[in-house]
Amino acid sequence: MIVTVTLNPAIDISYRVNNFKINKGHRVENGIKTAGGKGLNVSRVLKQLGENPLCLGFLGGQNGEWIKRHIGNEGLEESFTQIREETRTCLAFLDEENSTQTELMEKGPMVAEEDINNFSEKYKHLLEEATMVIASGSLPAGLSVDFYREIAEKAKESNVPFILDTSGISLELAIEGKPFLIKPNKDEICQFAKRSDLSFQEMIDVAREICNKGVDYVLISLGADGAVFVGSDTTLRAEIPVISVVNPVGSGDSMVAGMAFALHNHYDIEECLKWACACGISNALQETTGKIDPELVGDLLTKIKVTPL
Ligand code: ADP
Repeated sequence: MIVTVTLNPAIDISYRVNNFKINKGHRVENGIKTAGGKGLNVSRVLKQLGENPLCLGFLGGQNGEWIKRHIGNEGLEESFTQIREETRTCLAFLDEENSTQTELMEKGPMVAEEDINNFSEKYKHLLEEATMVIASGSLPAGLSVDFYREIAEKAKESNVPFILDTSGISLELAIEGKPFLIKPNKDEICQFAKRSDLSFQEMIDVAREICNKGVDYVLISLGADGAVFVGSDTTLRAEIPVISVVNPVGSGDSMVAGMAFALHNHYDIEECLKWACACGISNALQETTGKIDPELVGDLLTKIKVTPL
């Protein structure tokens, strides 16, 4: 069983607002409301690939109930930990005329100590049956910044591969917990290296340093430039076909799902990288975040070129 962890989910509402202007009121069509969170996107893509992941994290209040109902309708299994405070809402204003996207992201609820204990208890039990854990996204208030390190360590003690997609200080600290795989994008690897930019070779060097700290694999996603995959004795580059992007939001999450699916099914490492990229690309070709076209993924697999470096 694959377990996904979304610690700070949100109700995402997006509005189409042409000529969005500060200091002005706008009349808009009703917003499109979705159950958001990087781990939920990973779960959706895994589901489309035929897996049946179990979604964990924290949910509270009416927003939490809404998300539970919604993901249930999507056929996802969940065992979220109930919290007292309200799950957050994030708003996006899409202005097609000016090609801008303005977002308001609430910080989210404060998770109480009791909630953390409840989650940890559940997590500990699930590690007995889990075959993989995938954790994605930011941490809500109340959780210590080394929470990912803690849950990565517990997974390692139970011999369960732990895949992590997060950034900043929580990523830095989590590396000490020796996750199996991390998936930074270019900005995140630069942030990790405390550099404003890195050349391709420098990114590989940083990834190798991370592997030396006990992380098995570093998958660096490079948007339209594909990806580079570094392990202690492997460095692979994936070159991908040029596409007309529809909506790249969630491509990183889809990539994580594709990689997790292929690893879970014991594909060889070059094939895993192809699955990761194919799912990322397929998501970028869809309007909906966290959606892929499995048939197109099959076709894309033949068009991605993987070269050992
Ligand atoms: P993140 O969403 O985490 O920033 P990326 O933007 O790097 O991640 O996207 C993850 C993967 O999705 C890429 O490695 C690539 O395979 C695919 N992808 C994303 N954007 C594009 C694009 N513009 N063209 C083709 N593929 C893309």
